[in-house]
Amino acid sequence: MLGEASVTPEGIYRAPASIWTMSTDEPSVPIVCTECETETRVPLSDVPDALARHNDGKHDGEEVAEVDPALKDQLADLVAEDLGLFEEEETTG
Ligand SMILES: [Zn+2]
Repeated sequence: MLGEASVTPEGIYRAPASIWTMSTDEPSVPIVCTECETETRVPLSDVPDALARHNDGKHDGEEVAEVDPALKDQLADLVAEDLGLFEEEETTG
């Protein structure tokens, strides 16, 4: 391990909470599940599917997992209308 921390390697840089990352073309969104205590980053376009898949598979369709609340406002402003993330879905099947 390093003795002196006078150098700040770029790799240690911690990105601020944001849906926009520079590592991918598409912004990734953290999905958190309080019951499973998991956080998963998925591509923006995959968010509805990831949520549905997780909640359907793990929680009998209950909406337990959700977009990181800290980002919900951002998402709501940016893309909620496009993706319909926060519309209530009719249960199918
Ligand atoms: Zn879960």
